[in-house]
Amino acid sequence: MSKIKNPLELYKHLNKSNCRKCMLPSCMAFAVAVIQGQKSLEDCPAIDMKSHRDLSGAIVKRNALADEQEQSLHRFRQEIKSIDLEVAAQRIHAPIKEGMIVISCLGKDFRVDATGKMISSCHQNPWVEVPLLNYILHSKGIEPSGEWIPFNELPGAEQWNRFFAHRCEQDMQKIADTHTDLFFEILSLFGAQALTGITNADHSLVIHPLPQVPFLINYWRGEEVFPAKLNILFDQTATDNSGIEPLYLLGRGLVEMIRKLVVRHSRDGKLF
Ligand code: SF4
Repeated sequence: MSKIKNPLELYKHLNKSNCRKCMLPSCMAFAVAVIQGQKSLEDCPAIDMKSHRDLSGAIVKRNALADEQEQSLHRFRQEIKSIDLEVAAQRIHAPIKEGMIVISCLGKDFRVDATGKMISSCHQNPWVEVPLLNYILHSKGIEPSGEWIPFNELPGAEQWNRFFAHRCEQDMQKIADTHTDLFFEILSLFGAQALTGITNADHSLVIHPLPQVPFLINYWRGEEVFPAKLNILFDQTATDNSGIEPLYLLGRGLVEMIRKLVVRHSRDGKLF
């Protein structure tokens, strides 16, 4: 089989049923995700073993995101080994317990030791691990100001804005639109607190993916002439406590976690 270098070439080999068992809305979306390294062929149950073997050897991944995340994790773990955990804990106002720094992420404790190893009762994924280690290493520990601004007004957002709108806000809205009650139950499990007086949204909820990096999620229900809408606002200190890329990763991580929980708990086991 000749090399497969783009989503269209891979799409030709998929069964095109758009059955969504890969948790994506279409076979084309799956092809894009595989080429970008965000999904693997095993995620599509319609691919038989022989095709899997042939395709695996032929696909050339463009931007292997998983590899990049692995490299970032490795780099941050090495950096953690070179810092004084106690000093870092003081800077970000985090407790130390049994020699590990404790970071609250979405209402759950994540403990990190002096080698960068992370322990938590929560499912860990690189979308959260990378921003969390970055937070320990680079957060200035600044108290949030209470001034909320959209992602595109944060310093350095130009490069990431389009991705954030598409992969974080729009993807989250699709889940909120189709599984509204479950979506808000999940946010409440993540420790979401209602906030009034900032926008005229039907729901305004603050969650803390990192202690000093709150997200304000606003959701407007659709009405006759007005479509539903979701946006995410940030405290204006957000990039002091997390770089812009880690913020984007946190948004993606949040969507991935919600997506997984919705699939597991929705009555039909389907996302859309
Ligand atoms: S599981 Fe396979 S067949 Fe179904 S939508 Fe995803 S890629 Fe297409």
